[in-house]
Amino acid sequence: MHISIDSPVSVLRGVGPAKTASLAAAGIVTLKDLIHHYPRAYQNKADIKTLAEAAVLCSQSAAEAGGAENKQSVPPCAFLLTVSGEPMYKVIRRGMSILRFRAFDETGVCEITYFNQPYLRDVFHTGSTFRFWGRPAMERGILKLTAPVQEAWTEDASLPPIVPVYPLCAGLSQKYLASLIREGLKAAVSQITDHLPPWILQQNHLCTLGYALANIHFPQSLEALESARRRFAFDELFCTAAAMASIKDGRKGGEAPVLQKNALTPLLKKLPYQLTGAQQRSVREIAADLGSAVPMCRILCGDVGSGKTAVAACAAHIALQNGYQCALMAPTEILAQQHYSELGPLFESLGYRTALLTGSVPASKKRKIHTALSADTDRIDFVIGTHALLSDAVSFSALGLVITDEQHRFGVNQRAMLREKAGQAHTLVMSATPIPRTLSLVLFGDLDISRLDEMPPGRQKIDTFVVNESYRTRLVGFIRKQKEKGHRTYVVCPAIEESKKKRKVSEDTEELANIDFFTEAVEELPLKSAVEHAAMLQSMLPDLSIGLVHGKMKAAEKEQAMEAFYRGESDVLVSTTVIEVGVNVPQATLMIIENAERFGLSQLHQLRGRVGRGDAKSYCVLVSDAVTDTSLQRLSVMCRTNDGFQIAEEDLRLRGPGDFFASQGTFRQHGGPALTFSAGCSDTGLISAAVKSAGALIAADPELTLPENRLLGAYISHMIRSSFHTIS
Ligand code: ADP
Ligand code: MG
Repeated sequence: MHISIDSPVSVLRGVGPAKTASLAAAGIVTLKDLIHHYPRAYQNKADIKTLAEAAVLCSQSAAEAGGAENKQSVPPCAFLLTVSGEPMYKVIRRGMSILRFRAFDETGVCEITYFNQPYLRDVFHTGSTFRFWGRPAMERGILKLTAPVQEAWTEDASLPPIVPVYPLCAGLSQKYLASLIREGLKAAVSQITDHLPPWILQQNHLCTLGYALANIHFPQSLEALESARRRFAFDELFCTAAAMASIKDGRKGGEAPVLQKNALTPLLKKLPYQLTGAQQRSVREIAADLGSAVPMCRILCGDVGSGKTAVAACAAHIALQNGYQCALMAPTEILAQQHYSELGPLFESLGYRTALLTGSVPASKKRKIHTALSADTDRIDFVIGTHALLSDAVSFSALGLVITDEQHRFGVNQRAMLREKAGQAHTLVMSATPIPRTLSLVLFGDLDISRLDEMPPGRQKIDTFVVNESYRTRLVGFIRKQKEKGHRTYVVCPAIEESKKKRKVSEDTEELANIDFFTEAVEELPLKSAVEHAAMLQSMLPDLSIGLVHGKMKAAEKEQAMEAFYRGESDVLVSTTVIEVGVNVPQATLMIIENAERFGLSQLHQLRGRVGRGDAKSYCVLVSDAVTDTSLQRLSVMCRTNDGFQIAEEDLRLRGPGDFFASQGTFRQHGGPALTFSAGCSDTGLISAAVKSAGALIAADPELTLPENRLLGAYISHMIRSSFHTIS
């Protein structure tokens, strides 16, 4: 039978209906899925440690922990050990058995324990040698390994030096999956065609797809693995950037109203300030787009406080002057209200009709607004609102421009609905996440980009400090001092991410001992939960009113708590990162961020931007007990600069683009693929090379029809069809 890369996995030996179902649950249906099911980590067993070395590691880690024996602190290592006596097996209580024996190498002895694996009695015999993989621990002077991964070792056996660890599903074990993938690679190898043209590979010193696949699964060395990862990271960035560029190219066909730019003076005269150079430039770029029949798809990127609203107002003004309507959509009720209180009176005074349309507007008033939006005479020119604007009841008589603020807070469906509602209107998206220049073409390559990279004059610097737990009392005193001055304080605690939670102890012992040796060991400090922290602050500041917002609360409860803080009914707002975006509370002068080492720099910067919005001097305190150089170096960037773009570049250099992908709701929100390999890639050279190559390629061969690009063209259009359909 002819096996193709699209054949079902059941063509492989030993894959019956049960395994087929388990594999399908892990997303593996075809051979192609199988060979693209990448390891999530590796065990590096090339570097065999002696027991003497393990003892040293344990005592070093105990010294660092102040003498305490810390079981989790030594990373897993590989050992080559010989069993020194028959294992002791005992049933301790119902459902709990224990198997224990000693094993040695030329430098020492250790004690090895397994729980609930009686069959191992038949595996370990005196004198036999195994390669073990696990975390060594020293307890009362005895070196111990608990439930290490074991593989029988013989002189001629060639155990692989680096062992993949796969994401699993019920019914699949590591060993089974690894051997199946090996089979799959063998069966499919002749059909792996590389979608990247040879000249791109050469130019960027990349390995072929075949080599990359073989070595991402079964690397013969760390170098081979690195070369495979580099290829895949480049591949993702390059193809995504190329896909975005070609989507943008393809949109040129549409027809939108031509909105001529008339004098903006009537509007500008009403603003109490002059536009900054960056604002003027952005307005010019937007005006040029609006003046053409090609629908505008532009993103305005500007740090918090950079003055995006004024730019949006100019854009709206152009639409209204041309007799078209404008809709501005914000992700929350409060934000919509804030925009309305600023822009409503401004545009009314220019002679336009405006309205605020949010969920809490009474039904009868809503109906009136709906009617006035679709009317031909006496209609509402400028409507500001929330997703209530997306309701079926809303239709516009002449919508010319749609502006969305903090777009990434909207879900994919809402974006698609908005696009539908917008019809052929021009669209402007405003984002407060400063994106490094290199990444913007990957993240927003389907949009044109305007950057507000200059702050309005007279912005105060927010003094920023990094402190540790020993400052707690003083910090609480500082909160009280703000209150005495009539000011307010934000306290942000990290949310406990799903992925960081302890994995459920798996039946598969390999899961116990594995570690991703690529992710630089993150400092695992105890996390402050927002709920506990609020309670603690309340007990230390009994006469202050402490508010609380966290992700588990309903949207209405969240808004209520934020509004109470906004109105000054609470003095302190303890929250998870839900306050990151938008809300303007000029009386807030202190931002305290707990477990600051947990946050990306860009996120810290966004949070800090919540204070310093009034005239009073404002402060940001980063609380962290971090001790590693990388953590401290990262946090110190925050003390040095207030420039969001500079911080973003630094964040990219230190952590890779993962945080940026995440802050844009990852690519999935764009409707695109998740960037598995490039998220952790902090090689900015590779990123810009990928983006540059993609740009050059699309410019030279927009449809990718040249013979040497045809495979790539097919690959990218498949990628667009299957992943980007929500935005095309
Ligand atoms: P963001 O980009 O975060 O939405 P805003 O549009 O809310 O920023 O502007 C932040 C503050 O800066 C507002 O109080 C606004 O009035 C003020 N502002 C905007 N542009 C200028 C300018 N060119 N000069 C002085 N102040 C400005
Ligand atoms: Mg804003």
